[in-house]
Amino acid sequence: MNNRFVTYSPAYTVVPTYECFNRCTYCNFRTDPGKSPWLTLTAAQSIFKALQNQNVCEILILSGEVHPNSPRRQAWFERIYDLCELALSMGFLPHTNVGPLSLEEMQRLKNVNVSLGLMLEQLTPALLKTVHRHAPSKLPLVRSQQLQWAGELKIPFTTGLLLGIGETEDDWWETLEAIAQLHQRYHHIQEVILQPHSPGSQQTFDAPPFNPHKLPEVIFQARQILPSDITIQIPPNLVKDSQWLLACLEAGARDLGGIGPKDEVNPDYPHLQVQVLKEILQPAGWELIPRLPVYPQFDNWLSVELQTAVQSLALRP
Ligand code: SF4
Repeated sequence: MNNRFVTYSPAYTVVPTYECFNRCTYCNFRTDPGKSPWLTLTAAQSIFKALQNQNVCEILILSGEVHPNSPRRQAWFERIYDLCELALSMGFLPHTNVGPLSLEEMQRLKNVNVSLGLMLEQLTPALLKTVHRHAPSKLPLVRSQQLQWAGELKIPFTTGLLLGIGETEDDWWETLEAIAQLHQRYHHIQEVILQPHSPGSQQTFDAPPFNPHKLPEVIFQARQILPSDITIQIPPNLVKDSQWLLACLEAGARDLGGIGPKDEVNPDYPHLQVQVLKEILQPAGWELIPRLPVYPQFDNWLSVELQTAVQSLALRP
């Protein structure tokens, strides 16, 4: 029986810089400002060249943040823009997730991205006193405004919740309701990621991993709250037990996100590769199929140039 589908995106992550002016205590990614050399276009070109003919569709541009008022912000943004443009010119579809952007920055990135992303994480302001105490970008209102701007600009968008960073269960439902409401207004959210906190070797936040046994329950409830045209995504490398991975699918998750050589956000948790995932999923009647970083219902929101890039990849579930 192979009549149920789960998607993933054949992806490669490039990191313009690991430097970040925020200090989220659960972070396993950042370095201090000035301590991470920026990725050059020449180095990126070599990476992209090596990826051609490897069935990679998505280039995920994931970066630490330079402060919006920093004199280096413009150069940081231009590097990100140029990396997207380069990826596009070499046959890939960029998806950028680099923290909160100004409206103008978002508008410009729309020209060279098929979708953008930003985790809402949790809307509760209580976390500003704990894990986000030194993370000005994690102001809930700033983040929900990003989702609103994306809607106004007609940008297909990926967002999500980080689970197990000190929030309550009611906080989950409130955050999901907020996403649902924004989507009902703009119809622009393509996926919601439910990411369980998974402790890594660099973080200072001393808390246990999110209980994987709880994840199917959260997914089930999220499925009730979110409109049916939003796909629920879970990162399979953070749901180690294959029985629980299957339970997450039974509860309503239908996408496994970008699968590539390394999970830059959770470097202690290697991605399960596609063949391994297929071996887990197939016996339970799930077929794993590739998808692009933009869902088909959003194609007509893209520029002609981006639509052509999408069509040339001709890869659709
Ligand atoms: S989680 Fe993101 S925003 Fe927070 S410190 Fe790490 S890189 Fe910066």
